[in-house]
Amino acid sequence: MQEAILKVTNLKKYFKTKKGTVHAVDGVSFSIEKGKTLGIVGESGCGKSTTGRAILRLVEPTDGEVIFEGIDVTKADKKQLSALRRDMQIVFQDPFSSVNPRMTVSQLIAEPLVVNKIYKGRGSKQQIEDRVLELMDTVGLARRLYNSYPHELDGGRRQRIGIARALAMNPKFIVCDEPVSALDVSIQAQILNLMKELQNSLQLTYIFITHNLSVVNHFADEIAVMYLGSLVEKAPVKELFDHPMHPYTQALLSAIPVPEITENEEEILIKGEITSPVNLPEECRFYSRCSYACELCKKGRPELQEVRPGHFVACRRIHDVRMEEKRI
Ligand code: ADP
Repeated sequence: MQEAILKVTNLKKYFKTKKGTVHAVDGVSFSIEKGKTLGIVGESGCGKSTTGRAILRLVEPTDGEVIFEGIDVTKADKKQLSALRRDMQIVFQDPFSSVNPRMTVSQLIAEPLVVNKIYKGRGSKQQIEDRVLELMDTVGLARRLYNSYPHELDGGRRQRIGIARALAMNPKFIVCDEPVSALDVSIQAQILNLMKELQNSLQLTYIFITHNLSVVNHFADEIAVMYLGSLVEKAPVKELFDHPMHPYTQALLSAIPVPEITENEEEILIKGEITSPVNLPEECRFYSRCSYACELCKKGRPELQEVRPGHFVACRRIHDVRMEEKRI
């Protein structure tokens, strides 16, 4: 087994609000080997984005350790952090929600190079231009779009600009935060293929955040299922799809549309509303919605435990007979 490039231990991010403390990320741990993809999956609001942002320190973690290539990101000083930011990048769902709409494609791709002062002095203008063209080629953007504006382009091309910006600093690791969720299905496949090719050619390590399990099915090496700030299940992708064990994962998987539904493939509906992440009680986070819940589940939060090789589940009733039947 390769050494982990990223090791996250007991990561927490709480937001203090008027209503109380939001437990957005509440003790998340995992590691990723170099060149691999960890998919983080769960419903909207479960803390996926906050996890990604806390790892990059785009939001300050409340607690926990994030070790990237031996350096604790959470304790990095300003200088270390700016070096880490070159290696650790992010691709957003909508890359242009926060950028100046008057910037052209080339200016947008050049921005990280300019901000980080990668090229200095005489000739730097030409070097930036060359690098921007190289990045446009890398992400499959036609050079004729150099002076276009993002609003003139379709979603797929806009996301290619977002990827080029993330690649500009030659990163080793990228948090991909719902990068294809806003795109048509046919374009989703193109962008996923591009990201896979880039991963292979540039040896990139990804965290791929999505609410849609089917998107990571062919993309991730391992999947972590998140519910209300915690991981409830983590396993290699095939293992997770073949043997989902947590009732929440089972429900997520059963909700994926399949072309033909046979008699046995009923959708498992999750009852009730998602619990508010404000001032959470110390019981299993899935308690109020779980059809297997019992008194035992109220006794603190279950830890992830290895149930099959490499397959971790946080559920006290994991050896329950009725749940076993569901898993066959
Ligand atoms: P996801 O990416 O899974 O949709 P988020 O990480 O965006 O979830 O959010 C997790 C929880 O944290 C949600 O309840 C969200 O409302 C809350 N949250 C996120 N950012 C903030 C913030 N800046 N202030 C207060 N609450 C926040």
